[in-house]
Amino acid sequence: MTHAIRLGCIADDFTGATDLANNLVRAGMRVVQTIGVPSEPLGADVDAVVVALKSRTIPAAQAIAQSLDALRWLQAQGAEQIYFKYCSTFDSTPEGNIGPVTEALMAALHTDFTIATPAFPDNGRTVFKGYLFVGDVLLNESGMQHHPLTPMKDANLVRVLQAQSHTAVGLVDHRCVAQGAQAVLARMAELQAQGVRIAVVDAVSNDDLLRLGPALKHLPLVTAGSGVAIGLPANFGLSANPTASQLPAASGAQAILSGSCSTATRGQVAQFIATGRPAFALDPLALARSPEAAAQVVAQVCAWATPHLASGPVLVYATAEPEAVKAVQAQLGVDAAGALVEHTLADITRGLLALGVRQWVVAGGETSGACVQALGITQMQIGPQIDPGVPWCHAHTPAGPVHLTLKSGNFGSADFFTKALAQLQP
Ligand code: ADP
Repeated sequence: MTHAIRLGCIADDFTGATDLANNLVRAGMRVVQTIGVPSEPLGADVDAVVVALKSRTIPAAQAIAQSLDALRWLQAQGAEQIYFKYCSTFDSTPEGNIGPVTEALMAALHTDFTIATPAFPDNGRTVFKGYLFVGDVLLNESGMQHHPLTPMKDANLVRVLQAQSHTAVGLVDHRCVAQGAQAVLARMAELQAQGVRIAVVDAVSNDDLLRLGPALKHLPLVTAGSGVAIGLPANFGLSANPTASQLPAASGAQAILSGSCSTATRGQVAQFIATGRPAFALDPLALARSPEAAAQVVAQVCAWATPHLASGPVLVYATAEPEAVKAVQAQLGVDAAGALVEHTLADITRGLLALGVRQWVVAGGETSGACVQALGITQMQIGPQIDPGVPWCHAHTPAGPVHLTLKSGNFGSADFFTKALAQLQP
């Protein structure tokens, strides 16, 4: 029997969910991240759960349906407050999905007021007078105006959110936030009396977010990037503490799987190979010859890994330089090449799991999705941070408990692979 959770979070993408979970853990909450809406009850005693959806760019009606599904599950686990997490660059289209999902959650929670702020000062995202800055420039000058799926051509969040909402959007500006929670509460009451239902809140520093926190205590719904999370655990009597990130002791063999071809990952693969530890390179063109050829490679990797696993980590990688990737894509097609490598790494994951691998480092966002699915993981407890935005996690698989860390392309220092695994040792 587990206790009721305090904070229930709905994230509109997978790595965004981990980013939020990581911030909550660092602020003192024990957190589980789920992959999609679980079909079973929560299997751990934690303060918060982050349900990771993939709802950022799907049609608004589907994003609403998935978010309401997540809400119902979180309510069934006892969540006292709901946190709708979106990107700190407010990634959305004129149709949504931030506005429509926010309004649907408000209706379901019977609340007529919430806030919206993507501010994440640690990552250079600040909101001033309702305008979102990325580093030193406005959102619409940051490169985000060219984003292929969600081009952000206006930095004024009140206007952006108003365009995708039915209800009135207002602003709690920095002068008010600077005066502290009482002033914010008074301003929110004033806006509410004017008929405003969603307030964009300025924040240019972590101090702003910490001052904002107490003013959010009684809101059934908070909508934000991951930054606002640092001010919420205190509302539940929780503060930063080392036990929030504590995971069970690690055991079993270690493997690193890399399907990311991003710059940082290429450096990490090169650095690991330079340590002299065993590494196996996958050749997508050899995999593409036939399903039998691919199955043979999987068997070959497992046979190769077996003697090495007793003495330390092995690396299996499809990581390649941009020219090599382009050549493969030209022959196989971009999607087919990606799917083939992901499928093969998933098969290798299952093979290595059977060989006793219980500590996993996975590089690549899409690759992580494939490996997590292959491991049969639906819930992960979030542990200590390895590098900004990348924590260790603990999860149950049909073969037993595992530790894993999921690193998206450009995250992590050059020695990330060995550093991460060394951190798990007692
Ligand atoms: P990142 O987080 O760096 O973007 P992803 O795993 O999300 O990494 O995406 C990398 C994609 O490239 C995956 O679909 C993967 O299967 C594919 N891929 C990996 N290696 C190769 C390669 N050598 N040739 C072509 N595609 C590859």
